Amino acid sequence: MGGEPVSLPDTDVVVAASPLLSIVIPLYNEVDSLPHLREALEDVLQRENLDAEVLFVDDGSRDGSSELLDQYVEGNSTFQVLHQRRNKGKSAALDAGFRYARGKYVVTMDADLQDDPNEIPNLITKLEEGYDLVSGWKKKRYDPITKTIPSKFFNFTARLASGVKLHDFNCGLKIYRNEVVKEIRVYGEQHRFIPVIAGSQGWRIGELAVQHHARKWGKTKYGISRFVEGALDLLSVIFLTRFTSSPMYLFGSFGILSLFAGFVILAYLSILWFQGQGIGHRPLFFLGILMIIVGAQFFSIGFLGEMVSHMRINVQPPEPESSWKGKKG
Ligand code: UDP
Ligand code: MG
Repeated sequence: MGGEPVSLPDTDVVVAASPLLSIVIPLYNEVDSLPHLREALEDVLQRENLDAEVLFVDDGSRDGSSELLDQYVEGNSTFQVLHQRRNKGKSAALDAGFRYARGKYVVTMDADLQDDPNEIPNLITKLEEGYDLVSGWKKKRYDPITKTIPSKFFNFTARLASGVKLHDFNCGLKIYRNEVVKEIRVYGEQHRFIPVIAGSQGWRIGELAVQHHARKWGKTKYGISRFVEGALDLLSVIFLTRFTSSPMYLFGSFGILSLFAGFVILAYLSILWFQGQGIGHRPLFFLGILMIIVGAQFFSIGFLGEMVSHMRINVQPPEPESSWKGKKG
């Protein structure tokens, strides 16, 4: 009994080598663009001899895009599709693609052919100059003025708030090293601020002017709500990137200011009261009390924030062994 070496059965499972490139394409109701997109992609991949997987993330389309994509992936080893059961938004679609992408580099682009697949080789070249993320810049833009002007304002604010020097934060066409997309989680409309998030994590960010086209088929998925949501998302992103690890610095500062103002006001009124003046009817009295209550609340929020961020740090795994460089011992 025993002693016999156990021979493992031969397996047919071949682990596919990861490709150079994952191209992630979020799309929602783009049935008319898809045939042109597919052709343009096949064209550039073949011409440049690029080893790529194309990951379509169908964001709950209802116009026949889903069925068309199913046809494209049938018997094709390059194209893959993930169907989201409902429309969750472009950020969630990108996020799903990012989780799955196996390529060394990950390109994102819109499905409406406003982004030009022929820019992919240029993006790779630029990335290899020593960046972790290269963002497209629609230098000459083919969009209505109702979109270009607010977008200038957004880019200006995002630049100022984040310190990331890009002209065009929200270009759909970008390239990343795989490690970058694995570290970035986006939801809501936060895809617009991926460079802000990446910048706050210390990745090197570059920019490349790219060709942009007018939308020929289908229509834009964003109306006026994009501006309100975009502004709110900018606030969240700034808060989350700047103050997540030290929320007390933000809330505590307001708390100190408010408490201090409250104490000064009430101290002044106390002196008057000792001098025999009535103070119960004075608006200043109520302001003093209000400032103290608000100040205490700011502190409580700061403490809660600290507790949340303390928990977050404690559940984060440490850097893996493999990311250390140099000799041990
Ligand atoms: N998109 C998506 N889910 C959405 C909205 C948009 O996947 O809920 C996709 C859309 O199909 C396109 C890309 O995101 O591929 C950019 O959208 P769109 O062209 O409407 O934006 P715009 O160019 O007008 O900013
Ligand atoms: Mg578009």
